[in-house]
Amino acid sequence: AKAEGRNDYQFYAGSMGTNAMDSLKLEGALRRALERNEFLLHYQPQVDIRSGAVVGVEALLRWQPQGKEMVSPADFIPIAEETGLIVPIGEWVLATACAQHKAWRDAGLPPIRIGVNLSARQFQRQDLAKRVARLLEEMDCTPDCLALEITESDVMQNPEAAVEILRQLHAMGMHLAIDDFGTGYSSLSYLKRFPIDCLKIDRSFVRDITSDADDAMIVNSVIALAHSMKLSVIAEGVETAQQLDFLSDHGCDQMQGYYFSKPVPADQIAKLLQAVKPE
Ligand code: C2E
Ligand code: CA
Ligand code: CA
Ligand code: CA
Repeated sequence: AKAEGRNDYQFYAGSMGTNAMDSLKLEGALRRALERNEFLLHYQPQVDIRSGAVVGVEALLRWQPQGKEMVSPADFIPIAEETGLIVPIGEWVLATACAQHKAWRDAGLPPIRIGVNLSARQFQRQDLAKRVARLLEEMDCTPDCLALEITESDVMQNPEAAVEILRQLHAMGMHLAIDDFGTGYSSLSYLKRFPIDCLKIDRSFVRDITSDADDAMIVNSVIALAHSMKLSVIAEGVETAQQLDFLSDHGCDQMQGYYFSKPVPADQIAKLLQAVKPE
């Protein structure tokens, strides 16, 4: 966790020209952001490639400081992880996603899973499954309302502990996805032992699938590997019809990307689901 977080932070600090003073300010601002309710979630549809139906959404965190422009998670999650603030922020994300799921259900919309990103810091807590279970109950949700997204590097920091936590979550009925698949170092033998349901192929592999033979081969191999392990596959960052055609031809299950929709506020997702609501 440490090595990864530190890299992110240095990248952040370097790219933004941030010094220690700025990061202190940012930390304070993030702390206040929770109290002031400045966070919100946008949702990006996940589409079944065969049927074209929206089968899920991914919740993506946004920060809207008063009177300022919206801040991208790439610009504040590294600091939130570094300071541990990602733990309370992450709980807010889980609670808000559950509340949204209930609101959509109460509105009579078809139930779809909401994907929630977990950070390594949250994942390192031994009581994660218990906390999630309590939260689901409080928010009147069943575990199948959520899909938890965890990166390879997060689980590979301590694979033995990860297997145990994933088992607990999976036993509860939670859907589990490995995020950014292919970018971390993953051991195939561990992959076999993780009780996961889905691999999300990182955007960096999808970008050039129609022009780069290596990327095309990697994506095909990941799809084949996933299917041989009875896992489903979501391609991230699909932006063009050509990419979609390629993925469709090669048996990818779901796609997520600007080609279908950018992440949008909850009311726009409601409209999208309303359109497919059974009579
Ligand atoms: P991620 O989990 O890999 O999320 C996908 C990112 O790709 C999102 O960026 C999304 O807006 C972007 N994206 C989706 N489709 C396309 C596309 O077609 N083209 C391009 N160029 N980009 C696309 P976003 O929302 O800026 O989030 C960035 C990262 O921040 C996420 O990457 C995730 O690692 C992290 N993050 C977001 N929300 C949370 C959260 O609630 N908790 C934690 N721990 N991390 C979060
Ligand atoms: Ca994700
Ligand atoms: Ca991802
Ligand atoms: Ca990513």
